Amino acid sequence: MAQSPQDLKVAILGAGMGGLTCALALAREGFKNIDVYETAHDLGFVGAGIQLAPNMARVLDRLGVWKQIEAEAVNIVETSVRVGATDAELAHVPLEYIADTYGYPHMVGHRSSLANGLYQGCLRHPDAIRFHFATTAQDVTFGSKPSFKAVPRDTTQEPYRVEADVLLGADGIKSNTRVAMLDLLGIQAGVKDTNQAAYRIMIHKDQVKDDPELLALISGNKVTRWIGEKRHIIAYPVSNNTIYNLSTTQPDINFAAATNATYTTRGDKSVMLQVFGDFCPMVQRMLGYVPEGEVCEWKLRVHEPLPTWVHESVALVGDSCHPTLPHLAQGAAQAIEDGAVIGKVLAKLPDTTPASIHKALKVYEKIRKNRAYALVELAAASGRALHLGDGAAKEERDKQFAALREGKGPVPDKWADADVQREIYGVDVTQEATERFDELFAA
Ligand SMILES: Cc1cc2nc3c(=O)[nH]c(=O)nc-3n(C[C@H](O)[C@H](O)[C@H](O)COP(=O)(O)OP(=O)(O)OC[C@H]3O[C@@H](n4cnc5c(N)ncnc54)[C@H](O)[C@@H]3O)c2cc1C
Repeated sequence: MAQSPQDLKVAILGAGMGGLTCALALAREGFKNIDVYETAHDLGFVGAGIQLAPNMARVLDRLGVWKQIEAEAVNIVETSVRVGATDAELAHVPLEYIADTYGYPHMVGHRSSLANGLYQGCLRHPDAIRFHFATTAQDVTFGSKPSFKAVPRDTTQEPYRVEADVLLGADGIKSNTRVAMLDLLGIQAGVKDTNQAAYRIMIHKDQVKDDPELLALISGNKVTRWIGEKRHIIAYPVSNNTIYNLSTTQPDINFAAATNATYTTRGDKSVMLQVFGDFCPMVQRMLGYVPEGEVCEWKLRVHEPLPTWVHESVALVGDSCHPTLPHLAQGAAQAIEDGAVIGKVLAKLPDTTPASIHKALKVYEKIRKNRAYALVELAAASGRALHLGDGAAKEERDKQFAALREGKGPVPDKWADADVQREIYGVDVTQEATERFDELFAA
């Protein structure tokens, strides 16, 4: 048996935001036996932007990787919610107060910059963390020595079985670990169709050098949301204001008949333009810059909430247990919070018995589960409010937007609401794990 928690053998399935954060957090707590298994050949993330909210930045800073990520990001000082069809402003919310209130500004960046920052942080611990790329984990087993079959993509290599003291399933929304855990526990918690899909688009500054309106948006410090019935577009500059990132949400048509395993597809540019055909000319122009053949559409799926994230010495992390709609921009932030808490609770283990490991993982679940699911719910509610069609509910929402222009009331776009921001950014889960571990472990 391992002498100290730091000697425990930890296997992490998936090198996404959650898996990388788990590895880094554990290495920084002195763990020296961490193996990360990743299906992909490398961290080749699709080109897309990501919001780097203060609760995420706080964790990244403690893990020593924020400065590098921040250097490539864009500081957001305001947000504007606009009518898609006319570009009329429904609400304008200043966000400069966030840095003073929460210790970190609200920034936005490139996904690859975030992933790479975490990865570089991991590479600073070469004696502790080993990466196994192009290796898929299958057939997860539970118990005091959880295990899985590692299947190298290179078919000349034989699959092999890996046993660990702790197994962390950070394998994303299609998690094999989640499926295995639910099968074993006889829990039915299927994939939920949200009937929504998203295009993710990046426009480079040199593409719009002759378009002053778009150039101003790329060079600015603003998140803009254009909303319409059942659809919206959120856009912001990333990569030191050299790229404009657009993420849309629209009713799913293309995936409706696809299997649950299909999450992305190459889209048709003319269909995309048609979906936003009644949006204002500037939005049309933006969408027009997307090169033919580079339209990528993502299916937005979520899961039913799970009764547990932990079984014996196995825990689920990130999208494997709390996938969310993107409307609060908190999916990766929540996976990163998971990783930070896992690092803390395992470091605080009083001994290395499987019973204690299980209890420590349950502390992780106690700290994280209600918060993550509350934010999943809030993201769905915000999407419903943004996508309203004509009727009483939309009138009520637009009254709230109007009141806001006079400085009163809540923001229907929850992402920009100060009370919601307090709930999300004002909570320090790493600190909570440190302070409450003994009480929760003993309970
Ligand atoms: C349109 C859209 C916009 C978004 N915008 C934001 C945003 O602005 N801010 C934000 O915080 N979040 C955002 N998100 C959410 C965010 O991308 C996810 O919540 C986050 O990436 C989850 O991280 P993860 O590590 O849990 O999973 P993933 O990032 O999906 O990583 C899982 C990893 O596991 C690997 N894997 C899977 N199965 C196996 C296996 N069997 N064996 C080995 N490896 C495996 C995968 O290859 C992958 O690398 C957005 C999502 C969408 C769809």
